[in-house]
Amino acid sequence: MQVLLAEKRGFCFGVTKAVCEAEKALETFGQGNVYALGPIIHNKQVCRKLEQAGLKVVETLDEVPADGVVLIRSHGVSPDVTEALQARGLQAVDATCRLVKRAQQVVKQLHDEGYQVVMIGDKDHPEVKGVVAYAPSVIIVDSEVEVDALLPSHGRLGIVAQTTHAPENVGKLIGYIASKPFREIKIVNTLCSETARRQQAAIDLCSKVDVMFVLGGLHSANTKELADLCRQQGVPTHHLENWEQFKPERVAGKQAAGVTAGASTPEWVVQEFVEKLQAI
Ligand code: SF4
Repeated sequence: MQVLLAEKRGFCFGVTKAVCEAEKALETFGQGNVYALGPIIHNKQVCRKLEQAGLKVVETLDEVPADGVVLIRSHGVSPDVTEALQARGLQAVDATCRLVKRAQQVVKQLHDEGYQVVMIGDKDHPEVKGVVAYAPSVIIVDSEVEVDALLPSHGRLGIVAQTTHAPENVGKLIGYIASKPFREIKIVNTLCSETARRQQAAIDLCSKVDVMFVLGGLHSANTKELADLCRQQGVPTHHLENWEQFKPERVAGKQAAGVTAGASTPEWVVQEFVEKLQAI
């Protein structure tokens, strides 16, 4: 089978930094002494490797002993968590992606300027939960229905978006918000260009293949977004974590398959998948 790869795919600089910081912290502080607050990235294979190397994953700071080192993942944390870390005198390694950090600062600044801050994003995603905590009363919306239900009817809005959202979808929602009678709308672009480049490369690939495989964690927001975009191009699309989830009927009657990967998917997962798919 012919297999084509997206030109831009896999690890972004934010994920590369988070994994490097985790490895460095394990080397410096020793196995079993470094505690990640939640999975460091949304990729099971990478997280499993780091856990095998001695990284501990906890849900709350209460689970970290006084001499433990806390690793803050690429999605960042809310100011409450930073304050709690300081109050307990815990040592921390901050692997928050710089684009997420910027979104946190922008939310605070928009609030200080008097805007009702609105974040376009998934309210359950850890990045969004962390970012909105930088200002009081931030409204999170992800659909026109939520805009109608949650936004005030007038006033000054300051809008940001979850870094990994697709520009087209964010643009459509902003267009919808702009059709309402708001006196002023200030939009700060917090979208991640790394993600946008992967999305464009996936869209380009869709025109050359008759089936798409998008590799990455099933909870990875940017991987889910990639898969949705491919489906929007009208190409049958499968979001898989790795080759183990592949089923031969997915390529029955197909001539060319496209492969791309989310920002937290390591290249070895992609290469293994491609080699096995080519052999069919
Ligand atoms: S996808 Fe973008 S925002 Fe998210 S970690 Fe990577 S570089 Fe940072």
